Amino acid sequence: MSPTVAIIGAGFGGLCMAIRLERAGIRSYTIFEKGPGVGGTWRDNTYPGAGCDIPSHLYSFSFERYSSWSRRYPGQPEILGYLEMCANKYGLRPRIRLNTEVTAATFDESLSRWRVRTPSGEELFDVVVSAVGQLNRPRLPDIPGMSAFAGASFHSARWDHSQDLTGRRVAVIGSGSSAAQLIPRVAEVAERVDVFQRTPNWVIPKPDAVFGETARKVFRRLPFLQRGYREWTYRYAETALYPALAGRWSAGLLRKRALDHLRGQVRDPELRARLTPGYPVGCRRIVIDSDFYPALTRPNVDLVTEPIVRITPAGVETTAGLHGADVIVYATGFQTTGFLAPIEVTGRGGRRLSEEWKEGAEAYLGIAVPYFPNLFLLYGPNTNLGHNSIVFMLECQAGYIMGCLPYLARRGPMEVRPEAMEAWRRSLERAMDTMVWGAGCTSWYKNASGRVTNNWPAPTTVYRRITRAPRPTAFRFAGRPVRDSGGGLSVTS
Ligand code: NAP
Repeated sequence: MSPTVAIIGAGFGGLCMAIRLERAGIRSYTIFEKGPGVGGTWRDNTYPGAGCDIPSHLYSFSFERYSSWSRRYPGQPEILGYLEMCANKYGLRPRIRLNTEVTAATFDESLSRWRVRTPSGEELFDVVVSAVGQLNRPRLPDIPGMSAFAGASFHSARWDHSQDLTGRRVAVIGSGSSAAQLIPRVAEVAERVDVFQRTPNWVIPKPDAVFGETARKVFRRLPFLQRGYREWTYRYAETALYPALAGRWSAGLLRKRALDHLRGQVRDPELRARLTPGYPVGCRRIVIDSDFYPALTRPNVDLVTEPIVRITPAGVETTAGLHGADVIVYATGFQTTGFLAPIEVTGRGGRRLSEEWKEGAEAYLGIAVPYFPNLFLLYGPNTNLGHNSIVFMLECQAGYIMGCLPYLARRGPMEVRPEAMEAWRRSLERAMDTMVWGAGCTSWYKNASGRVTNNWPAPTTVYRRITRAPRPTAFRFAGRPVRDSGGGLSVTS
């Protein structure tokens, strides 16, 4: 009999998991989605200019290659359309419960099953797969006076489309990837835009290109070309971008590319100085965008770098004075280190995930957590990438979970052993030491104590290798421990 599976979230991860189950003939799953539609972050982020800075031929499922992308870096509507097409094509819709937020999941030891709670009650499942993502909860800053602002204000991931920005004064707080995409579009219509930058980012150009009818026809008729293009994009990210994040040979080249881009697009040396980061390239998420700098040089756009003191009813006050605004856009990022929060997850022995993770989230392979049997994570701790497609990681994780199902069906609930977790932690720390994220910058990759809880510190080829199949010795089954040396978990290639 197939296990019953609760999937939390209908974004790229949740859909990927459901498709894998469907293809294995397992239909005993339910996708719980708190929002009104599928798509996750691609449903939530509808700000002007929203799109992906990873080429879509790579930022899509390997098993569902799509020849109709209109350009190399398509916008949010096209990516959302792709995900909706996947949900329809694979027949997932009947098993998706929209507008249904999971508030708690508790492992019932007497039944060896999970009690999954939603506002409409509690249901039992054998397996819980979290696919909630890392960028699903907007983070509003804690600036004095925010509630007193007299105009409209909203977060970039909760864009208020009822606000017409034409001819208005817009303050954008933040200068990360979301801000870089929305500022050029807002600046085209607004009377003026003040961009409040706290920390400059490294920015490299986005070599966008339109795929016209001919290119699309070629991709459709000659699938090997599409496969080759995808493979080439993947290899480029692994061989040219990844080494920069590991402080190796391409770091200097990437830095030079970013500085050339800045010099080429911003003539004013004073503005350039304020846009030049003072930390190693790749320490924070690199912004990939060709329109951001030109937007900052427009006469109706100002880059404000004085610290914000407070929000007043009339606008944003910095140490240099008040910047009047009609609308404030908070492009201030996401609560990234809480992972499953605010879902209350309770495992064996009444252990709470939030307690287990109070020093920082961690999971074996980013997928499994000791004392939480049959709970699997997609895009869990230490599986985010700064250089390649997260869809690749999701497919590795979904495949790994599929590999676990026969074990738990035969041997009972499976739970990663603390020794295996400890060995994993050590190898992760060793690999992390080689990466550029540790020192010299703040970023959403780290928790409050500075530990990098979000990123994967090795090539993705290594991740694919170590997630190819579960090692049963790393798990205990139905409370019966098996021996495991904890070896063989090295994440270095
Ligand atoms: P973000 O990179 O976390 O940027 C948040 C911005 O808000 C930063 O500039 C930050 O300044 C600023 N900020 C936060 N609190 C502030 C405060 N109290 N006062 C002043 N400034 C404040 O968020 P994001 O731009 O939404 O991007 C998040 C991630 O989403 C990206 O890194 C990327 O992984 C993903 N994303 C991807 C794409 C894509 O094309 N693939 C597009 C958009 C987003 P500090 O830097 O000083 O903290």
